Amino acid sequence: MIIVLKSGVTEEQIRHVVQRIEQLGLRAHVSRGTYRTVIGVIGDEAKAMAEPLRAIPGVAEVMPVLPPYKLASIEAHPEPSIVRVGSVRIGGGHLALIAGPCAVENAPRMFAIAERVRRAGANLLRGGAYKPRTSPYAFQGLGEEGLKILAEAGQRVGMPTVTEVTDPRNVELVARYADMLQVGARNMQNFVLLTEVGRSGKPVLLKRGPSATVTDLLMSAEYILSQGNSQVVLCERGVRGFDPLTRNLFDLAAVALVKRLSHLPIIVDPSHATGRPDIIPDCALAGVAVGADGVHVEVHDCPEEAKSDGQQALLPDQFDQLAEQIRRVAAVFGKKVSELPGEIPCDVDSSLETGKCI
Ligand code: PEP
Ligand code: MN
Repeated sequence: MIIVLKSGVTEEQIRHVVQRIEQLGLRAHVSRGTYRTVIGVIGDEAKAMAEPLRAIPGVAEVMPVLPPYKLASIEAHPEPSIVRVGSVRIGGGHLALIAGPCAVENAPRMFAIAERVRRAGANLLRGGAYKPRTSPYAFQGLGEEGLKILAEAGQRVGMPTVTEVTDPRNVELVARYADMLQVGARNMQNFVLLTEVGRSGKPVLLKRGPSATVTDLLMSAEYILSQGNSQVVLCERGVRGFDPLTRNLFDLAAVALVKRLSHLPIIVDPSHATGRPDIIPDCALAGVAVGADGVHVEVHDCPEEAKSDGQQALLPDQFDQLAEQIRRVAAVFGKKVSELPGEIPCDVDSSLETGKCI
């Protein structure tokens, strides 16, 4: 850390700043220039940054030289981390392909969608049982019943599952049913929740908040990592933009940037980022091209009946096509969509009621 002192600072003030620094167990190195005096501070920077050094008389500016996240930084771990969810590897050239409905609605529909996305090559099954809705009157999810349905769907088709947990009190419950815990965009800075999912030891899918900077996202990851849980996958799902033609602003630069700042895998969610099925495939492919370690998309067999986010759901046929394109783009970059072992178990009933639209 570098402390820049005000012009006209007195010798007594400089002594006082040095004394403060030493009291914190850090070392101070004073450099006197023609116009300004600066103090180089050597020691635990994160600890020093947490102190109100800027409030000491004579101090003009306090400048960190390291990023505020330690465990999430590329310096801490120069090789890309590989997160494992069941047999699925995410990162280091292995792509996640996460698909499923926004919300778990009922068992037959969940089973039918699971089968379709598994056949298309998805390797993680998603579906929300606890839905963070803007309106309290909108469908809030089936709760534990939804967790049970998702877990059964995953078992039937041989896919690990990911689902959102919105409340720190539910972490244990959700962790009992799901293979990966999702922290949604709205909860990215729910620090109690981050600490709890960190303690759970389960892999975590951490989505970027709608107005979070890349540094904010990495600091939230740091909360989870600092609990001893290294299994964190980040997700760019769009930030609040100004153009009503898309739901959010898909920030591809953030993906490229995270790859340079952190060893953690980052995937893209073009469904929530754009809210438009007509451009979701293009944005998914762009995400892979820019370096994402996977894609997360919402798929529904009958979007007009969906209880949440139907307007942005891809149809299963569209997902089949996208999955194939993702595999091809991944191959161009020497990457591969992680494959699930074996065939789809043959006890899956493919004649399941798919909740036909009309
Ligand atoms: C979701 O994945 O269904 C969801 C609510 O996403 P986000 O938190 O990114 O809005
Ligand atoms: Mn959704």
